[in-house]
Order: sequence, then C-alpha cells, then structure tokens
Amino acid sequence: MTFDPAAAFDPETFRRQGREVIDWIADYWQSLESLPVTSQVEPGWVRSQLPPAPPEQPETLDAVLFDLDRVVVPGLTHWQHPGFFAYFPANASGPAILGELLSAGLGVQGMLWTTSPACTELETHVLDWLCSLLGLPDRFRSSTGGGGAIYDTASSGLLCAMVAARERATQLKSNAQGMQQNNRSMIVYASEAAHSSVEKAAKISGIGQQWVRLIGLNTRGEMDPLALARAMDDDALAGHTPCFVAATVGTTACGAFDPVPLIAESSRRHGAWLHVDAAWAGAAAICPDYRPGILAGAEHADSWGFNPHKWMLVNFDCHALWMADRTSLVEALTMKPEYLRNNASEAGGVVDYSDWQVPLGRRFRALKLWLTLRMIGAESLRQRIGDHVAWATDFAGWVEADPRFDLVCPPSLSLVCFALRDGEQASTALLDRVNRQGNISLSHARVAGRYCLRLAIGGTLTQRRHVEAAWRTLTSLAATQEHSTP
Ligand SMILES: *Cc1c(COP(=O)(O)O)cnc(C)c1O
Repeated sequence: MTFDPAAAFDPETFRRQGREVIDWIADYWQSLESLPVTSQVEPGWVRSQLPPAPPEQPETLDAVLFDLDRVVVPGLTHWQHPGFFAYFPANASGPAILGELLSAGLGVQGMLWTTSPACTELETHVLDWLCSLLGLPDRFRSSTGGGGAIYDTASSGLLCAMVAARERATQLKSNAQGMQQNNRSMIVYASEAAHSSVEKAAKISGIGQQWVRLIGLNTRGEMDPLALARAMDDDALAGHTPCFVAATVGTTACGAFDPVPLIAESSRRHGAWLHVDAAWAGAAAICPDYRPGILAGAEHADSWGFNPHKWMLVNFDCHALWMADRTSLVEALTMKPEYLRNNASEAGGVVDYSDWQVPLGRRFRALKLWLTLRMIGAESLRQRIGDHVAWATDFAGWVEADPRFDLVCPPSLSLVCFALRDGEQASTALLDRVNRQGNISLSHARVAGRYCLRLAIGGTLTQRRHVEAAWRTLTSLAATQEHSTP
C-alpha cells in the first residue's frame, strides 16, 4: 500500500479522523478520575514498547490510538487529573484546546504583521482585553508606547525583559564597544525565592550568573527591601550598573508576595528595570478581592508577566507579558534581513512581534486565549479562582485543627504549605506514600529552612470533594505512619 501525499491534507479524511481524535480526548477526560495521577512506569519502559525504526508504509489512525492507550497513557502523569495538586497545575479547558486546534489548522506564521495581520492584531487586542480584566495600569496598553505579547513561558518572557533592560542600560545598539565598555558589570537582583529562570536568563543574556544578587527573605518568604536597597547602593558605589530587578508576586515555593512598591523605589533610584514575575498568582488579579495585593506597585514596573496556562484555563503554553515601553525590547531584538522587508513594517504603523522575542517564527497563540475568554467569560473565570482560594482556606483550617500537622506559612491564595510536626523525615515519608497511593499528587518545597508538602489547587476538573479526599488520604496515611514508627 502506498500513501497518496495529497491524503495528508485531505479535508474528508481529516473530518473523519478529527472526530475520532476529539472523541478519544473526551473519553480520556472522562476516564481521568479512575487513573493513578502519577505515572507508575519504570525508566525505559515506554521506549521498550516502541519499534526501533519508523514505518516505511502508512499505518492507520486506529493503530496509533491503540498504542496511545497501550503505551502513552500508562507513561503519563495526568496533569488534568482532579487530584493533581503538585507544583502549580497547568490547567486547560475545552475552548482553549479548540483554539489550539484552530491555530494548528490555520497553520500560519505570525512573525510579521504582513505575514498574517489577524495573527498580530488579535494578539494585541486580546492582551489589551486581559490588561483590563486584570486591572493592570494603562501604561501597559498597546495604545501607549508599551503593550503586551504572548510568549511560550514565563522563562522566555523574563529573558526578553532582561535583554531589554540590558539594552536600555548599555545602549548596545548605538554603542560600538558593546557590553565591555568600561569594566562595569550589569547587576541583576532577585530574592532567594525567585524562580530559577532569573539566573538562567542572566546566563543566556551574557550578563552572567555570577552577577545575580539573590537578596535575603523575611520569615514570610518575601524579599527584604532594605537588603535590596543596600545591595544596589553597594554595587553602584563599586562602579557597577544595577540593571534589572525581578520582583516575584507569588513565589514558586510558598506563594509569597515581594513588597513591589518598596522594591520599585530602589529600582527607580538606580534607574534599574523592574520586572514583576506573577506567573502563577497574576491570574487572581481578575478577582477584585485579590487585585490590590497582586497589583501593588505594578504602576512602577517596566514589565509584568503571568501565565494564563497556570490558572486561567488556557492550555500550555501561554505566557502574557506587558512592557511599559517597548523601545529597548525592539532595539535589542529586531532583525530585518532583506527577505523580511516589507512596506507595512517600513511605514512603521504595525507591530512585528518577531521583534519582541527570540525566535523568528510565531504561533497563533492568541486564538486559544480568545476562545477561552469568549466562551468561558470573565465571571466564570473569577468564580473558579474564588472557589479554589476558598477550598485552600478550608484545607488550611483542617491542617491547623489537626495536632499532627501544622502550616509552615499562612496559605497564599490557593496554595497551602504544611508539614507533620514529627519532623522532616516523617513529612518526606508521608509525601512519598501519598504519591504512590494514586488518587492525588502533591509536591514539596523548603520554606524558611523547613521541609513542607505543597497543595496547589488549580485543576479545571478539581472540585471541593477532591480537596476533601486529599485531606482524608493524608490523615489516614499519617495515622498508619504513626503506628509503624516506634
Ligand atoms: C511557574 C513559574 C515560573 C516558570 O514558568 P514557565 O512558564 O514554565 O517558564 C516562573 N516564575 C514563577 C513565580 C512561577 O511560578
């Protein structure tokens, strides 16, 4: 049997097979609750089930779906399982996934405005919508010198912000000596609890990991603003250039909020770029109750980013990043070789998003955000976040009321960090047993030196009863653990 190349793009075949695949996904969602959250396979098992060479002849969709069930599903940790409480859930929704499918179906590249005007303009528009929904300051809107764009991840967004900051501090574009000018180092600041992507960006941007100052924390896990002010003053005195400050709103370990207004004062005094990383917590700014805490100081930020793929029902990958002034970003990243030159770009009235990012090519990611916002609506998105925070508050209450457990820090939005009072070994053993047992998955962190279990509520399918079941599992395993220790 040979395969007609045209069949690879045949509308009728696609129509039929597409329905089968959508059905397969819907069946998978229905079966999720009966599956163990964490994959139970041994290393190498998945590959041992696959043939060593790709097929010469076409196979059927049925054959592929058969292996999806047989090989792939057992090798998955089910991130959309309602009992997934580890890390930060990467939630999804039907509308977002349909948007993703439409994006693939259209198969356009949005590197320049002219390569698909709708790809650029829908993105600009949806990011302005989001700006309003979150209550972000107007300086981030596209009608100003700033504006927003979608990136794959918070790590990429932060890298681009850092490159823009480096550009602003060195004026590399007009400075022939580049970064080597006069032995002054660019310095990056973030707290000890900041995401590792800050140090990674310093490595990639050429600033160097050794020039990242990790500022100490107070007991709540927030950056100490006085220590930051001292470090920046010392560096400036030593002839260095304080270049970039990353404030975290909702740290990865325990959801702490850095004091952005105070951090902004030091940044402004030294002319350093202020970036706010609100990757997880940012989504909660759509709720008026949580907005003031999340957006405090945002009016002083040069860039502000969050992940709709963490807590706003948009499937991975989707990071939204806004700049107050896009000039240095574009100066740092623009490249217009002859083959990309076009009248629209030259006339200057359009945005070419490839000037805002590392790659040239660009997916039509705005579609999944657009479908999510339109088909779910702001009210339901707020309702979900409110529910998750309420359930986390209940869970924290149960922890506090149980003499075997305690909270390692106050809950932050939908994140609870807790431990067994019996000590680190007891907590590690409990986490291990919980995750092997199958119906829930938690992760861990260290907060103020103390090991803790983390319960992060954010899954689309998670309901209050799953949070209750998580607590029942934890308490019953803790009870048997007590009996088995001498
Ligand atoms: C999750 C997270 C990140 C990294 O997110 P990616 O999108 O995977 O790069 C960065 N910062 C914070 C605070 C996070 O919670």
